[in-house]
Amino acid sequence: MSFQNHEIYQADTVVIGAGVIGLAVAAALAGKQAAGGYVGRERPDIWLLEKESLIGSITSSRNSEVIHAGIYYPQGSLKARLCVQGKHRLYEFCKQHDVPHRRCGKVIVATQPCDEEKLAGIQARARLNGVCDLEFLDRGALQQSEPDLKAVAGLSSPSTGIVDSHALMQVLLAKFEALGGNLVLNTPVQRLAQSGRGWSLSLGGVHPCRLQCRQVINCAGLDARKLLQGLTRADGHDFGSLHYAKGCYMAYQGRVPFKRLVYPVPEPGGLGIHLTLDMGGQARFGPDVQWIEQPEYSLPDTLGEKFFQAIRQYWPTVDPERLVPAYAGVRPKVNGEHGSSADFQVEGPSIHGLANLFNLIGIESPGLTSSLALADYVCSLAEEESA
Ligand SMILES: Cc1cc2nc3c(=O)[nH]c(=O)nc-3n(C[C@H](O)[C@H](O)[C@H](O)COP(=O)(O)OP(=O)(O)OC[C@H]3O[C@@H](n4cnc5c(N)ncnc54)[C@H](O)[C@@H]3O)c2cc1C
Repeated sequence: MSFQNHEIYQADTVVIGAGVIGLAVAAALAGKQAAGGYVGRERPDIWLLEKESLIGSITSSRNSEVIHAGIYYPQGSLKARLCVQGKHRLYEFCKQHDVPHRRCGKVIVATQPCDEEKLAGIQARARLNGVCDLEFLDRGALQQSEPDLKAVAGLSSPSTGIVDSHALMQVLLAKFEALGGNLVLNTPVQRLAQSGRGWSLSLGGVHPCRLQCRQVINCAGLDARKLLQGLTRADGHDFGSLHYAKGCYMAYQGRVPFKRLVYPVPEPGGLGIHLTLDMGGQARFGPDVQWIEQPEYSLPDTLGEKFFQAIRQYWPTVDPERLVPAYAGVRPKVNGEHGSSADFQVEGPSIHGLANLFNLIGIESPGLTSSLALADYVCSLAEEESA
């Protein structure tokens, strides 16, 4: 699908951003519409707009691809609820649709006696979130199962896994399109304006035009707040801006002696420089946390030394020569470096007062894990709050 210059188009629902979240939301909405008898309409009502030439090329392809268990987040938070629900949904979905994934498990390690208490805290919080399968490993048990790790204790999480996020996004897109949904690439939404109870979108790209619709779901990730510039909430405030925390990765050339993922105890802003594996068994380390003004993906020259020092705390025989710079991703943060860790923000009219606008803000980790559950949550909210 492409637009013609200066035409005015009509749609029912527009989803902005074809990352894993926009794709999951669009597929879920299309599924709901299909259940209402809309399949095969000549003119699909749901449009998924993406500014890049590919789907999922921003944060959704710059992460660890871990299916998180749901153990770190405050009880009752959206992160806790949607991560745990999303994990179950994702394993089921991957099985059903042949998306490569592996329930490989992970171990969180305490490298110093004072970290042991933190493991107990993580286990207690996990239980509150309904994750009751964590197993405490004392030094002996850990030594037996992971002889290459140096740690005083560990916590094993058997429900943690990995997923091929690109395959997942392709399946979500196929579902959306099979249900009559319409993806348009190379189409940045430049401005959103209220038009009666609906919305008028100014679209850039090769064929600038206008699109009018009833409802907008903003899944623009790092740009989700920028997109709202110029709009005023019902309480008179503007929508503010996001903060950004970059996370860099290094790949490890050669095999590592671990079959499961290895995490240190979490650090402020992230989960610590951990070891993850991809579906091919290739190991990578990261991400670290660097607060930045605007999204950018450069890898500093000092990365090797920093990562070596962090990794050797739990894997003393890591070979620094085998660590090679890989890539970086950027976390969209609701609060800045000195603020507290925030929950996912899903803002509908009951929060900001603007009819038929739904904003998904600060969808950092565990967004990939939560994607299917978050999509259902957004669909229900849109049903409840649409006008
Ligand atoms: C370093 C790092 C590690 C992570 N690790 C994990 C993990 O292991 N497990 C996990 O569950 N989660 C993880 N996450 C979180 C996960 O990657 C994100 O939650 C998820 O990818 C967010 O998807 P999204 O669709 O919201 O954002 P994106 O993938 O960024 O998609 C947003 C899309 O919107 C488009 N867009 C923006 N503005 C416009 C516009 N004006 N018009 C049209 N299109 C627009 C963008 O081009 C982009 O494609 C990690 C995140 C980071 C940064």
